[in-house]
Amino acid sequence: MKSSAPVIGKRMETKQKKYNSLRGASTLLAHTPIKDLFGRTFNYLRIALNEQCNLRCMYCMPEEGIDFRSEDKLLSNQEILRLIELTAQMGVSKIRFTGGEPLLRKDLSELIQFANNYKHIDSVHLTTNGLLLEKRIDELIKSGLLGVNISLDTLNSEKFKKITRRDGLDMVLSGLKKAMGSSIQSIKLNVVAMRDFNDNEFIDFIGLTKENDITVRFIELMPFDSHQIWKTGKFYGADHIIADIKNQVDELNPIDGSRTEHHIFRVNDYKGKVAVIPAYSRSLCGECNRLRITADGKLLNCLYSQNETNLRDAMRDGKNNTEIEDMIRNTMKKKYIDGWEAQNQGNDNRESMTQIGG
Ligand code: SAM
Ligand code: SF4
Repeated sequence: MKSSAPVIGKRMETKQKKYNSLRGASTLLAHTPIKDLFGRTFNYLRIALNEQCNLRCMYCMPEEGIDFRSEDKLLSNQEILRLIELTAQMGVSKIRFTGGEPLLRKDLSELIQFANNYKHIDSVHLTTNGLLLEKRIDELIKSGLLGVNISLDTLNSEKFKKITRRDGLDMVLSGLKKAMGSSIQSIKLNVVAMRDFNDNEFIDFIGLTKENDITVRFIELMPFDSHQIWKTGKFYGADHIIADIKNQVDELNPIDGSRTEHHIFRVNDYKGKVAVIPAYSRSLCGECNRLRITADGKLLNCLYSQNETNLRDAMRDGKNNTEIEDMIRNTMKKKYIDGWEAQNQGNDNRESMTQIGG
């Protein structure tokens, strides 16, 4: 079982060693929270570190990949550090690195360490497909990683090959096991729920929470893939998922969860939790606290937003921190009331979730 004590001690120690500002003194509205017109405050930044991936999940990327942007179009290490610093000064206290597959990025530990040591940042998290987790987790924990979300849609190796178009279930499970035996504080399994694919495995996934203090999260399929497999009848709505698991598990008790976990349960005295995320139904929007930055440096104020603010070009054009701060505040201020309104503002032409970061 994982224990949290060592990591807390370590974090307090490393927090003493703050990084100095990358850009020197700034005239930012120090720590004035980022807000929108509906009174929501944004303190959780998700940054996609790349578009490339070592899997090809059917609902995310075509077999042949997407039209990946060249390296020079993606944010550099220094640009990412600058945005972390800037947003942290504007009240961001939680960072998640995602992708593409963030474990393919060699400087991941450096980025985690920078974010973890930066004043105002309370926690640094990672979303990964877990293939390379076993190899890299020690180094990530040393850098200050507090939480990991591992994406895993099936516990069956043939089905794993089918959905990811690659081999590797054993590697993901080894990564999960190592994470559970480590000092990492928060472990979540992201399971995209798909009718006639993994609905017969919900119970097996829930079973993992019996002895392990992890959260298994069943997530609605979203329409972010060029092949639109979500139109093929695989979509399984949150209400149906809940009804389905309640039918199969007697003692599913509602409990409190994080703001992003709308429906959250524990089975009897199980150690872990079960969450159902209405990612497509979008009933969570009122609680939204997220800023999203794509691998090529575009700021999105909503997963479903059709508008992007190009922070990469702003930085490359020599804009100063105050100007970029204005761009960030203005973008977030314009956030629509919910993801439905955001989606209605234009045509989505994204080829893959890797271009948004999930
Ligand atoms: N490669 C990493 C991974 O799979 O965890 C990080 C990036 S991935 C885009 C982030 C999350 O988005 C994963 O949990 C994945 O399952 C989810 N995702 C991707 N496409 C999706 C879709 N069409 N609907 C719902 N979730 C999706
Ligand atoms: Fe890769 Fe994650 Fe997309 Fe799967 S969901 S193809 S692992 S980026």
